[in-house]
Amino acid sequence: SLPIVAIIGRPNVGKSTVVNRLAGGREAIVFDQPGVTRDRTYQPAFWQDREFMVVDTGGLVFDDDTEFLPYIREQALAALVEAAAAIFVVDGQTGPTEGDREIATWLRQQPVPVLLAVNKCESPDQGLVQSAQFWELGLGEPHPVSGIHGNGTGELLDALVAHL
Ligand code: GDP
Ligand code: MG
Repeated sequence: SLPIVAIIGRPNVGKSTVVNRLAGGREAIVFDQPGVTRDRTYQPAFWQDREFMVVDTGGLVFDDDTEFLPYIREQALAALVEAAAAIFVVDGQTGPTEGDREIATWLRQQPVPVLLAVNKCESPDQGLVQSAQFWELGLGEPHPVSGIHGNGTGELLDALVAHL
């Protein structure tokens, strides 16, 4: 079976946009369950000679108290358990938040390689400055990307497939 790459991060950082970019617009396979509004979706992706599945999750929230919180967290955990690697998506326009730090602390304890994608970095020059703020998360090199424009995703995928 194909290696699975879990996409983790707070709501609205652009996880779904990045997933669609990495998967090149291939249709998501949605595992629908009655009453479940935020299930995981799996999208096949290809890079170099590698094929893998990208799993989008509803979002990992530690601070925010919503009625979906336990379910969202459960989905992120479930996605990570079966994953060969994870991409932690953060928002380059907001900089690191307390929620990012909590997720990073948790991810550093997980037995999978984690790539740090700093999304919303449309401008290459600004992107370097925006992404450099995220070294503090202790997850190695921050990769500036723009899910909307597509820049940086080639470098991110190069780094990713080295772990698959
Ligand atoms: P998710 O909740 O993490 O899945 O985030 P979404 O993919 O739904 O995106 C949340 C918001 O961020 C939307 O308004 C997107 O248009 C916006 N967004 C996503 N990717 C980018 C990006 O690369 N650049 C900018 N400027 N906005 C983005
Ligand atoms: Mg989403």
